[in-house]
Amino acid sequence: MSVKVPRGTQDILPGQSEKWQYIESIAKDVCRRYHYKEIRTPIFEHTELFTRSVGDTTDIVQKEMYTFEDRGERSLTLRPEGTAAVVRSFVENKMFGIPDQPTKLFYTGPMFRYERPQSGRYRQFVQFGVEAIGSEDPAIDAEVIALIMDIYKSAGLKKLNLVINSLGDAESRNAHREALIAHFEPRIDEFCTDCQTRLAKNPLRILDCKKDRDHELMATAPSILDYLNDESKAYFAKVTSYLDAIGIAYTIDPKLVRGLDYYNHTAFEVMSEAEGFGAITTLCGGGRYNGLVQDLGGPESPGIGFAFSIERFIAAMEAERIEWPVDNGLDCFIVALGIEAKDHSVALVHELRTAGFSADRDYQDRKMKAQLKASDRQKARFTAILGEDELAENRITVKDMAEGSQDNVLLSELTDYLKTKMEAK
Ligand code: ATP
Ligand code: MG
Repeated sequence: MSVKVPRGTQDILPGQSEKWQYIESIAKDVCRRYHYKEIRTPIFEHTELFTRSVGDTTDIVQKEMYTFEDRGERSLTLRPEGTAAVVRSFVENKMFGIPDQPTKLFYTGPMFRYERPQSGRYRQFVQFGVEAIGSEDPAIDAEVIALIMDIYKSAGLKKLNLVINSLGDAESRNAHREALIAHFEPRIDEFCTDCQTRLAKNPLRILDCKKDRDHELMATAPSILDYLNDESKAYFAKVTSYLDAIGIAYTIDPKLVRGLDYYNHTAFEVMSEAEGFGAITTLCGGGRYNGLVQDLGGPESPGIGFAFSIERFIAAMEAERIEWPVDNGLDCFIVALGIEAKDHSVALVHELRTAGFSADRDYQDRKMKAQLKASDRQKARFTAILGEDELAENRITVKDMAEGSQDNVLLSELTDYLKTKMEAK
């Protein structure tokens, strides 16, 4: 019996991994322009971090965490999302003491959720996320939203819908909560058992239920926008006015509540509208979390962030049929014929690599024809052929594969020759 990858996980092989690198490099470059710096936190954390921050009525905490006890009997959890750890680190490292706030961070890495695997839903997936902690200026909300839209735009995605909503401050949320309880309570027995628990603990979560989404009471549920107090309304109006000012289109959806407990004020998602994208269209989710830093033991430091998964990003690129950057292949493949030439090619390929070229050679002791074919398959720009006669004269034949031309070059001049040729291109 051979061992296979665990359910809901995947190997990312050469040919695919370049797509990941491409998206990561775009996202990192956009972060550089918006002045966000990378933070790297552990893959596992104390379980308590997630139960306290993500919230124990959420799907993530109730059903999806990979929790285990280590040999010292500590309960640890493979991180299901990034915000909790970033905020923990913000508090632990007293980043709130840095004079310039907000602290603007980005992260990327694998997240783990025990979910039912399907397209766009994995048990290990890679998120890229951003957090700006330490400012309640609505301009930061607009900046974070502009940042994510810029990442998508830089990758060429066009068929997107930015959906935003306000969950209001604590006072607004409480008023809305009462209204939701009054709305759902009389008929709560028609809902799933999760929703029945949510009613008392966190009725807002009912609106995010995947099982009961078509129940008639969902459509008529009280809208948060009708319960926003003046401050929350003014805040939301500022955010949207800034988005208008920078020309970012959005749709307001009062039903957008997001899965996690810690959100308030601005919540947003980016959906793909590409045909054939599949049932799960959410590419990115984010929002403001003003109480989270305090919940995790820090001073009052309002934050906002988002996260997207690279898996769904790639799916959106493919649904929109956006071309990936082409693989340029090798600069030079060395074909060596005969024992002496092969021996010599050890130093030669090393010399090319040291000079900055991507270079490779044959390691299977193949005949000339097979080595030339390999060079073709590796899309080598140049094939350098070293035969015994040539070696005796300290020369090598260099074929320009694009032009079809070839030159006989002194071995000692090979790197300079390639440099000149490549610059001329
Ligand atoms: P969903 O409603 O699809 O379950 P979520 O609310 O659980 O999403 P978030 O916790 O907001 O998702 O995570 C942010 C983003 O991470 C999502 O918008 C999505 O792009 C991605 N994501 C979440 N779960 C997965 C998964 N299991 N596999 C791949 N990507 C995921
Ligand atoms: Mg989920």
